[in-house]
Amino acid sequence: MTPADAFFRDVSGYLKPEDVSQLQSAYDFSATAHAGQYRMTGEPYVSHPVAVAQILTEWHLDSQALSAALLHDVMEDTNVTKTELADKFGKMVAELVDGVSKLDRIEFQSHEQAQAENFRKMVLAMTRDVRVILIKLADRLHNMRTLDAMNPKKRVRIARETLDIYAPIANRLGLNRLFQELQELSFKHLYPNRYRVLQKALYSARGNRREVVDKILDGIRHKLADAKIEATVTGREKNLYSIYHKMQEKHLTFSQVFDIYGFRIIVQDVPSCYLALGALHGLYKPIPGKFKDYIAIPKANGYQSLHTTLFGPYGTPLEAQIRTAEMHKIAEAGVASHWLYKQSDAELNELQKKTHQWLQSLLEMQTQSGSSIEFLEHLKVDLFPDETYVFTPKGKILSLPHGATCVDFAYAVHTDIGNRCVAAKVNHELVPLRSELRNGDRVEIITAAHAKPNPAWLNYVVTGKARSHIRHFLKTMQYEESAQLGERLLNQALVALSPKAQKIDDASWDKLLKDQTDKTRQEILADIGLGKQLAIVIARRLLMIGEPEGGSNRLPGTVVIRGSEGMALQFAKCCHPIPGDPIIGYIKKGQGLVVHTHDCIVARKMRSDPDKWLDVEWAPDTRKLFAVNIRLVASNERGVLAKLAAEIAQSEANIDNVSLEPGDSTAYANIHFTLQVHNRLHLAQIMRGLRRIPEVIRITRLKG
Ligand code: MN
Repeated sequence: MTPADAFFRDVSGYLKPEDVSQLQSAYDFSATAHAGQYRMTGEPYVSHPVAVAQILTEWHLDSQALSAALLHDVMEDTNVTKTELADKFGKMVAELVDGVSKLDRIEFQSHEQAQAENFRKMVLAMTRDVRVILIKLADRLHNMRTLDAMNPKKRVRIARETLDIYAPIANRLGLNRLFQELQELSFKHLYPNRYRVLQKALYSARGNRREVVDKILDGIRHKLADAKIEATVTGREKNLYSIYHKMQEKHLTFSQVFDIYGFRIIVQDVPSCYLALGALHGLYKPIPGKFKDYIAIPKANGYQSLHTTLFGPYGTPLEAQIRTAEMHKIAEAGVASHWLYKQSDAELNELQKKTHQWLQSLLEMQTQSGSSIEFLEHLKVDLFPDETYVFTPKGKILSLPHGATCVDFAYAVHTDIGNRCVAAKVNHELVPLRSELRNGDRVEIITAAHAKPNPAWLNYVVTGKARSHIRHFLKTMQYEESAQLGERLLNQALVALSPKAQKIDDASWDKLLKDQTDKTRQEILADIGLGKQLAIVIARRLLMIGEPEGGSNRLPGTVVIRGSEGMALQFAKCCHPIPGDPIIGYIKKGQGLVVHTHDCIVARKMRSDPDKWLDVEWAPDTRKLFAVNIRLVASNERGVLAKLAAEIAQSEANIDNVSLEPGDSTAYANIHFTLQVHNRLHLAQIMRGLRRIPEVIRITRLKG
């Protein structure tokens, strides 16, 4: 029987016929896609995906996951696309394959402990569906089982990575058997000599012990039967890696670690666990301080059992684990136990939900016992991902908040890198600095010696570090400039409030400065320029005009561009945008945000510098008036201007400026108005009103 035949025999045991035939077509597809490719072992490549899928059948995974396992390398190794997979096998299967492929693409380089931890988090954060991790772990297990075929250097690298990254992930998800095997195989390839020596020692010790073990097993079985406790009792052997680890950690010899007999007792229910414990303690004396109740306080990965160590019959310690069948399932298969022990017709979403609930309950359990903050952190990543993990060019992993951009990354690496960054490459491709980073991205920042932070960055950075450094830089470098801008803005505000434009005397300034405490006049002007204070508010105070109800700059109507509270604001003279117009903002050094209309010709010419442009939108209910230019062609009759002015006044708009120029003939006049209007609707009303005047022939709004 070929491995593929064995696989189909096994899945037929628990999947519906239509699922099996879907797997058959996934297998055919994979075999065709990998045709002509061979593994290092010399077998046709398709033997690998089949072996991976076979491992997953041990957990009774569903047909989607198994299809994805059969197809897991086609995107990476052949030119099959995700769309093609989605068309043939459904969106879900394509998503799973894509998820596994993404994990394949990230490569772990650093060997620092902390980095390994970050890498594990990154792997979990990239996994939206726990089945992706299960496939990836099965993939890794099969690669480890066939590692002999690799060259020694590669073997060590893969084994190290497995021990540092994948085995701990398996452990975290409670996949105990898998965890043990991954550890064992990693140990074997990392330290072949130590492995061989320990293995030899284990074989000879095992032979000597058989009789003793059988005797003890018998004793325990009888004792439990006497106490009327139904139980399965088995002997248990430690794996080599855990013996090795214990020897290293506690400076013990092989026999000190190994001369401990291990037993497992599986009973019906929780009360029986404690009854069995009592019976056992009646049989052999417990060693003080060795008893652990992981039923009342489960381990971080959900593991439950009673652990106790006894003085055995021949002076050797005897370790016992007591648990229910249910606990045993979780101890063996962890997160996968929901698939393994599902009811016959459980729906997939139901399984996903249960898995999620399981993870959730672990979380709560940990919160209550408070024993493993570390684990909580991992689960948080898994359940509520709010961190993004990315690589530096040297392979170090940085964790950034969700939504972080290249600029955040630059500042996270170093303040100087942030202050001097001019461009970024993500996964070797040039991208705009504002690009959001995703898990697993490799980010490279390009700097220039004389580059400076751009105020526009403040609109998209998400880390406090980047924000505060950009602010700090702008504050110091542009202080003078800002103060000048602030003065200009303040004068405008003063004129707007009091058209007679009186000069502000020093006394008014002194009074204001006293109220503001530790600020100088220059600092207040700079604040205005930087947008931290509103010119109109300061102007009111200087003129000693009381503020309207509701107070300072939270007043509705004072902000005209949503989100511009931190910036100085100007409306472009070329296109005169008014509320309702589609708009775009340009960051002009020393002048803050200049707003243009979307179709402004002047703006279009400057679009080549995309980093300086922002999408902006109007704030709701602005109460300000905005300048707008219109041109009107009217028959050149006496009193026409007065008629027009009267109509405009009736519409509650102000006329800022009027100019007349001769038309093509003396019969017509071209009249230019600069009007103050509230918004587009207001302007439309005015234009409609003007059109009703018989002398008016044509009206157009002027832009640019
Ligand atoms: Mn693979």
